[in-house]
Amino acid sequence: MTGLEILMGAGGALILCLAGAFFWLDRQFEEPSAKWVPSVAGALGAKSVLAVFAHPDDEQLIAGLLIRAVQQDGATTRMITATKGEAGTPLPQISRLEELGTIRHAEVLKNGYALGIHEQHVWDYPDGGLVNQDFEVLVSRVQEQIKTWQADLIISFWPASGFSNHQDHKTIGAATVEAVKRLRDIDPDAAPKAIAYILAPSAMMKRLGGELGKTVVANQPAPTHAMPGEGWAKIKGWDNHASQKGYVQKTYGMPPSLIHRLYDKEHYYIEEF
Ligand SMILES: [Zn+2]
Repeated sequence: MTGLEILMGAGGALILCLAGAFFWLDRQFEEPSAKWVPSVAGALGAKSVLAVFAHPDDEQLIAGLLIRAVQQDGATTRMITATKGEAGTPLPQISRLEELGTIRHAEVLKNGYALGIHEQHVWDYPDGGLVNQDFEVLVSRVQEQIKTWQADLIISFWPASGFSNHQDHKTIGAATVEAVKRLRDIDPDAAPKAIAYILAPSAMMKRLGGELGKTVVANQPAPTHAMPGEGWAKIKGWDNHASQKGYVQKTYGMPPSLIHRLYDKEHYYIEEF
């Protein structure tokens, strides 16, 4: 064998290895048992979608659902973000730290607009402290908005796992479920017809998410539905969330442009009433 042949053989083996690793990683973001739908809002016949989240950038998780609800199903989309995200880790740091909440408030409005969200409310609950707030007040505020906007499909976090076990995620999920339950008790015809909970990809979380990942998977249900995640919008979304872009890369060890090529679907547990 010549030196060139050895080099070509080694190069070929390396390419095969990389392709295999990519394929394996890609599979960790799949949930084969979930029902595949082109659009969750479309599958449920929803016309008024309301996402209720805790932080600026939580909406990145459901970009596919939001975009397709508007573009494919002609639905109206709205979102509540309960905090301004002032306790987040800015990476890169693009403002004075005391102004991070203002910056992230602007970032979520910018990204919401890019995702075609028609109307957004950003509340001023303390980031990281949602659990210490008056739960009754939180529930009635969510309840009021669902009613005002006549939302028929609500999106939030599964209260026991919160996608990442973040306490704010779990609290806003619990308040949202309670708000829907109360509205259904009062007037089931006017109340939302379904809640879609965004779930973390279980194989990835179990195998690569450490103890935290295992806790999340142990506390979330199996997804009932999967749909396209519109990874391109999420990649662009991290430009809108400029103060978080580097943090994402640091947390997952790869750039958003690669993450959303692997994690290109969204998985939901849907509770229909
Ligand atoms: Zn969050």
